[in-house]
Amino acid sequence: MTSGVPTKRRVLPDELLLRLAREFGTPLYVYDAATIAARAKQLLELRASSGRGFDAVRYAQKANPNLAILRVLREAGCAVDAVSGGELRRALAAGWKSDEVLFCADLFDRDTLALLASTPFQLNAGSPFMLEQYARANPPRRDVVLRVNPGFGHGHDRKVSTGGEHSKHGIWHEDLADTIAHARSLGLAVTGLHVHIGSGSDLENLARSSAALVAASELCRDTLRTLSAGGGLPIPYRPTEAHFDPTPLLETWDRARAQVERRLGRTIRLELEPGRFLVAEAGLLLAEVRGSKRSGSVEYVFVDAGFHNLVRPAMYGAYHEISVVGRDADERVPLAVAGPLCESADVFTQSKGGVLEPRLLPRPRVGEVVCFHDAGAYGASMASGYNSQLPACEVLVHNGSAKLARPRPSHEEALQTELELLE
Ligand SMILES: *Cc1c(COP(=O)(O)O)cnc(C)c1O
Repeated sequence: MTSGVPTKRRVLPDELLLRLAREFGTPLYVYDAATIAARAKQLLELRASSGRGFDAVRYAQKANPNLAILRVLREAGCAVDAVSGGELRRALAAGWKSDEVLFCADLFDRDTLALLASTPFQLNAGSPFMLEQYARANPPRRDVVLRVNPGFGHGHDRKVSTGGEHSKHGIWHEDLADTIAHARSLGLAVTGLHVHIGSGSDLENLARSSAALVAASELCRDTLRTLSAGGGLPIPYRPTEAHFDPTPLLETWDRARAQVERRLGRTIRLELEPGRFLVAEAGLLLAEVRGSKRSGSVEYVFVDAGFHNLVRPAMYGAYHEISVVGRDADERVPLAVAGPLCESADVFTQSKGGVLEPRLLPRPRVGEVVCFHDAGAYGASMASGYNSQLPACEVLVHNGSAKLARPRPSHEEALQTELELLE
């Protein structure tokens, strides 16, 4: 087999990637600030035929909460979303004011509820039981956004569909009227309605969810100020896929906003809440080739990154383009690319259900650098310490220079607290 298979462009030059891999060691996440800023600008400047755009682009930081990345998105003009007490603290550390941060969850842990009781973060509640807990905590804010489960969901994998009765997320659409009445009885005003049906969805499903919010707007006519379209915008992981055009999505939501404005007789804000779309393509995971072997008909290439660094292939059967830096023109053969973990699922070339799918790649030599593309979203943020592996180092390339954004801890640091407990 020869070349001719399309290869995705790497967002940063080969010489830089090879230098960074040498300087910081592998596995290494490299992020390109310019790509992130360009995606943010695209969404912030998007206009519907009415001339209106999204009133806010709220970054769902769980896609990648590195402070250096949060800083880039804040400077680009994005608002931010947080799904835990840790993410609330990160948003403040990156420079957002508390009232610019929306906490979005289906429960409060005690720490987070205490944080919301002392600081005026915005709240998006995804479960009815949260309202009473919130009101009882005597928070500085009395306005809430409700997340609606419209009765259907859609995403790139069943595990990331966040609507329908098989999803734990949101307030079931049939319970919304009761929940809003309950909120009112607790002295809380429902000022926003939000829907997020899944991650890596498509236009049809993302648009369908707008009708659910238009219907729900009748239930909180007197207090509603904001509609949120959620996130879920897909990116092209395969070289054959086209970029998602967000304009038709805005058109649909712009019409929904206008419909609600006509019904309510006032201006309504429209928010978008993307994670993946803003950061996925800006990130590359670099790993070093450590060897290869054959098992029957399958040739395995082993690299020093595994699903502790990038879990999407093992967890969702997700596709990440793989390339060997500097070898794009070379002949390709089918190779399975595997990591160091003591677990069969630690293979980057698999489809849904764990079916091994060798990839056409140049046969790399030990010491060469393999690049996993589009790893900026749900890569480092979903990392684990399985097999006592250390997290990857993270570097941000910004205005022509590469800066460490998160160091790899040492094994000594990783052991320290437990060691002290033995003494
Ligand atoms: C994860 C999440 C998002 C972002 O999803 P993407 O698919 O990364 O755009 C948006 N809103 C909420 C509530 C989320 O949980």
